[in-house]
Amino acid sequence: MLIVQKYGGTSVGSVERIRAVAERVKRAADAGNQVVAVVSAMSGETNKLIALAAEFSKTPSTREMDMLLSSGERVTSALLAIALTEMGYEAIALTGRQAGIVTDSVHTKARIEEIPAEPVMAQIKAGKIVVIAGFQGVTREGEVTTLGRGGSDLTAVAIAGAIKADLCEIYTDVDGVYTTDPRIEDKAKKLDKISYEEMLELASLGAKVLQNRSVELAKKLSVKVVTRNSFNENKGTTITSEEECMEKPIVSGVALDKNQARVSLIGIADRPGIAAEIFGALANAAINVDMIVQTVGQDGKTNLDFTIPATELETARKSLEGFGGALGRQEFDNEVCKLSIVGVGMKSHSGVAAEMFAALAKENINILMISTSEIKISVVVAKKYGELAVRILHATYELDK
Ligand code: ADP
Ligand code: ASP
Ligand code: MG
Repeated sequence: MLIVQKYGGTSVGSVERIRAVAERVKRAADAGNQVVAVVSAMSGETNKLIALAAEFSKTPSTREMDMLLSSGERVTSALLAIALTEMGYEAIALTGRQAGIVTDSVHTKARIEEIPAEPVMAQIKAGKIVVIAGFQGVTREGEVTTLGRGGSDLTAVAIAGAIKADLCEIYTDVDGVYTTDPRIEDKAKKLDKISYEEMLELASLGAKVLQNRSVELAKKLSVKVVTRNSFNENKGTTITSEEECMEKPIVSGVALDKNQARVSLIGIADRPGIAAEIFGALANAAINVDMIVQTVGQDGKTNLDFTIPATELETARKSLEGFGGALGRQEFDNEVCKLSIVGVGMKSHSGVAAEMFAALAKENINILMISTSEIKISVVVAKKYGELAVRILHATYELDK
């Protein structure tokens, strides 16, 4: 089999852990497989680099951030290749560029445009174990880019799709995908299988066990993905098509996203085109706006609330500066989080939202914003209630049963 194995930050977090990963790669190779390993930076390393940059600027150039952040993954890829070589295997470490990963030029969250199979396959055909630095690519102009937080998952899926691997294993620090974050609710249950659609929602809504864009791509390219624990031999969770998931529970999981901020524009001019101008300015700054709520206008004024990633708060503040008084009073609230329930069974059931709101009301948790889609319901609540709310909803939908 041709296998891509991705190892996350904790899994390569120390010398001993990198050695253990080398052992695991070795076992896969000894069993007759052709192996491509994709690695993250050592745990905490990317955050450390971000903090270093923050010592110099609140809004550092995103190009330079990519120069900085891509270094973490280079370190681990080289160390793993050195470890494997020492064990008597032919191994080669490749950067994103060397692996042929071409992206657009949106620094710090670039999208992959192209991956030729040839650079990796040439090394595989030469009998080598290929170790790829995750999370990074290069633009057509040769600029280094990174793929957004958690982006090594995307590297692994994209490479697996490009070389038509039989399997893409995502090794992390928990046994697979759970009904909610097992670090918040210890009654969370590991799922054996989950559909691409549900996984995509969970990942987009804060379940960082898989990066959302990696799930999107896995679905598009039909890459078979299994998430597993690098610390044990347990079976893991298979991400697959909805048809293969026999059970269709109404709610499959609860997700919490603490990296959310709410922007409130109170008393903006209620005229055609104002929303287009505001969100146009945010789009120009490459800010991903999520929920949007506009209240009914009165006396030529209206209110607009929306959420953005908390990490983009400063950039948002900057890009709204140009509007001056036209936006009324501006509030930037970091103390919120987004709480969501996800399940394909919601499509054919009513009353799921009412049950969710009632459960939160019973604990006196106020809902600030609401949004829904076919298979998810999200609410924004105060950050201090986030984890409690996760446990409440987990119990409400009997996910521990
Ligand atoms: P890695 O460094 O291996 O990429 P991450 O920290 O990005 O690992 O993702 C794994 C973490 O995701 C787990 O430690 C867990 O706390 C968190 N997590 C959040 N939601 C879930 C979920 N539904 N199932 C499993 N893990 C989850
Ligand atoms: N090191 C990067 C991050 O922390 C990418 C990854 O781990 O997947 O976001
Ligand atoms: Mg991750």
